[in-house]
Amino acid sequence: MVIPAETRIRVLFSAEDIAARNREIAAAVAALQPVNLLVAPVLKGSFMFAADLLRAMHAEGLAPQVEFLQLSSYGAGTASSGQVTMVRDLESSVAGRDVLLVDDILESGRTLAYAKDLLVARGARTVRCCVLLEKPAPRAVSVTPDFVGFSCPDVFVVGYGMDVAHSCRELPYVGVIES
Ligand code: 5GP
Ligand code: MG
Repeated sequence: MVIPAETRIRVLFSAEDIAARNREIAAAVAALQPVNLLVAPVLKGSFMFAADLLRAMHAEGLAPQVEFLQLSSYGAGTASSGQVTMVRDLESSVAGRDVLLVDDILESGRTLAYAKDLLVARGARTVRCCVLLEKPAPRAVSVTPDFVGFSCPDVFVVGYGMDVAHSCRELPYVGVIES
């Protein structure tokens, strides 16, 4: 599917609102005084959020290591398959470390629960979850995020790293495709 350039997108969360929220989240993470912090963005959708959040964390005096995870539960469509698979694993040990998972959206909870359970099983000291957007419950799997950017209505969103068939990731805001 190719998204035409003239596609209209209704803005739900502006670049300015996201930047302000990122600063608040970064300050809240810094206030926890994490030990040997590893920030683990869950690719692909979180890449832009993670990049901005990490710069906000730097401004708060944090100096985390960063490693990427890639998990897949969606395939190319927009309906969750329900099955989470590991596409790319972390390269270093998380044992004894404070880990911050960063994801774009919490919806069914399957993705974050899978990642969190895995890192807890590997001996992380803490595994906290940060999501840009939290969709309404109920969840298929119970998982409570520690940091949430915004509550998101139950619609399919794009932008700020989030795609529809690999398009729209470049948008500096989060929106809904109108036509
Ligand atoms: P879940 O919490 O259901 O395991 O999965 C959440 C993941 O599904 C997100 O990280 C994201 O990759 C994808 N997802 C869920 N809702 C949306 C949406 O509205 N738009 C986009 N682009 N991806 C979504
Ligand atoms: Mg995701």
